[in-house]
Amino acid sequence: MIDEIDSDILILGAGGAGLLAALHAREISPKLKIVIAVKGLLGQSGCTRMVQGGYNAVLNPSDSLDLHFADTIKGGAWINHQELAWKLVEEAPRRIVELENKAGCLFDRNPDGTIHQKPFAGQSFDRTVHRGDLTGIEIMSNLRDAILESEIRVLQECRGLELIESDGRIGGALLAEIRTGRVIAARAKATLVATGGGATMYRISSPSLEKSGDGMAMAWRAGASIVDMEMLQFHPTGLLVGDSIATGSLLEEGLRGAGARLYNGLGERFMQAYDPQRLERATRDVVSRSSFFEIAAGRGSPSNGVFLDASHLGEKFLMENFPGMVERCADHGFDLLHDRVEVSPSAHYQMGGVRIDADCRTNLEGLFAAGEDAGGAHGANRLGGNGVADSIVFGGRAGDAMADYVLGSDVPRARVDAERWSRTSRDRGESPFALRGELEDVMWESAGVVRSGARLRSALDRLAALGERAENARVDSLPAWNTALDLGSLIDVGKMLARCALLRTESRGAHFREDYPHPDPAWLKNIFIARDRDPWCEPVAFTRLSPPV
Ligand SMILES: Cc1cc2nc3c(=O)[nH]c(=O)nc-3n(C[C@H](O)[C@H](O)[C@H](O)COP(=O)(O)OP(=O)(O)OC[C@H]3O[C@@H](n4cnc5c(N)ncnc54)[C@H](O)[C@@H]3O)c2cc1C
Repeated sequence: MIDEIDSDILILGAGGAGLLAALHAREISPKLKIVIAVKGLLGQSGCTRMVQGGYNAVLNPSDSLDLHFADTIKGGAWINHQELAWKLVEEAPRRIVELENKAGCLFDRNPDGTIHQKPFAGQSFDRTVHRGDLTGIEIMSNLRDAILESEIRVLQECRGLELIESDGRIGGALLAEIRTGRVIAARAKATLVATGGGATMYRISSPSLEKSGDGMAMAWRAGASIVDMEMLQFHPTGLLVGDSIATGSLLEEGLRGAGARLYNGLGERFMQAYDPQRLERATRDVVSRSSFFEIAAGRGSPSNGVFLDASHLGEKFLMENFPGMVERCADHGFDLLHDRVEVSPSAHYQMGGVRIDADCRTNLEGLFAAGEDAGGAHGANRLGGNGVADSIVFGGRAGDAMADYVLGSDVPRARVDAERWSRTSRDRGESPFALRGELEDVMWESAGVVRSGARLRSALDRLAALGERAENARVDSLPAWNTALDLGSLIDVGKMLARCALLRTESRGAHFREDYPHPDPAWLKNIFIARDRDPWCEPVAFTRLSPPV
């Protein structure tokens, strides 16, 4: 017997996108029955809380929306969905006001009372709004409080398993309580996937560990179109802390923005060879790849990384501006104030994701996507500071659109077939924990910072085999079941990534092929993938800005 819940709007995920969606929908009509199901804890899970550096928005009269837009498109190597990118840029300033005036956030100020904005890589103007170097905590704590003050129902430690398909539309999702294994059929008139991406499929990664690409995988399994899955960003400065789960956690971009330098194992400031103009302030793809080449050439640090050195910025400056980073390093025995710290490229963010329109609608009736689950706005590479802005802007837009959708139509109640999801234990088979380790190695070695056709083909073979082994993995406890479910999503996402990466025979943004090391103008296209058809390409629509000829 499966428990059932009925709602108007079901939101999977409680990061910035999920919470903004809930609050916006509620503002449109307090009568709407809104349910949030979140794999982690409310306000404590996902990557929005982990945001260190900040949020890009045009606030200074000397800056402009056109400049922010151009930075975003150039950073995205010209394959962004330009209308999504424009919405992001256009609404980001309004949402900062909303976060302060409605949710109660308070961002750092200049002496004259205006909001302080700091430099981030790839930007032509210092436009990153922040609260110290722990901006996400400020945003998420206040959004959580706003949710708790509302009547929005929150199911914590409750994961989306599968979207409910009924009469040609999405009518909610099956959920599983992680602590009990109880399966719940949550019917809804509109459903939002906002579960963040799946960069945790790599050996070294930065996101919160419960994220496993579930939203993209669920949407794909239900038939949604997914865009640009080959585009996965590596952040250049993930800490190296041996086998600790802290390996991959980030030293934020603002450090490089402020002048921190990168050195190889020979003590050379290697960015001079790769990007002599921008040096460490080059975009993440360029810096990550440069570090990777140094390591691959045997010029890495003892732990197979490179060194980040901020000591010349001075103790006072670092303590005032990056206390969280200083503390993070100290927690692991590193001294950011006076010494070099070993770092590595760390899988960070998926630019690809579910194809949406500007109102976060997908090609499936009743299904919406926002935040990292959605693709298109960032093209081939996301600028630091545009990620949380994306979640806040498109989360809000999804909430508005879902409320309008539900209020404006008579949506039928979905029929549910949940039988196949009752948990089946299997006391024989391989450990899902070990299989997950193998997946991380496959992705790191064969579909990582530097790719080739041969390695991607090998990744696809190994992923297919892993998929079969994962189907028969041992499931002898709830944690094993949870890990097996995560593994299933990550393998689906990994396969999509490798298939699209194999197709894109050029290098662009975060996607680098050593067998096709240059961008090819013929590839000013987006790659789409869906369950029931082969991947296909569509030319980028240059609706606002065209690439230089
Ligand atoms: C360390 C770090 C630092 C960052 N710093 C910055 C920065 O300075 N500036 C910037 O712009 N961006 C930054 N980012 C990126 C930014 O965090 C993301 O772009 C953004 O927060 C994603 O928001 P989201 O709402 O899509 O997902 P998240 O905030 O990641 O939330 C996902 C939610 O979905 C839940 N979930 C997962 N699976 C399921 C499931 N199956 N069912 C139900 N719920 C599920 C999770 O528990 C979580 O609540 C950073 C990321 C990291 C990892």
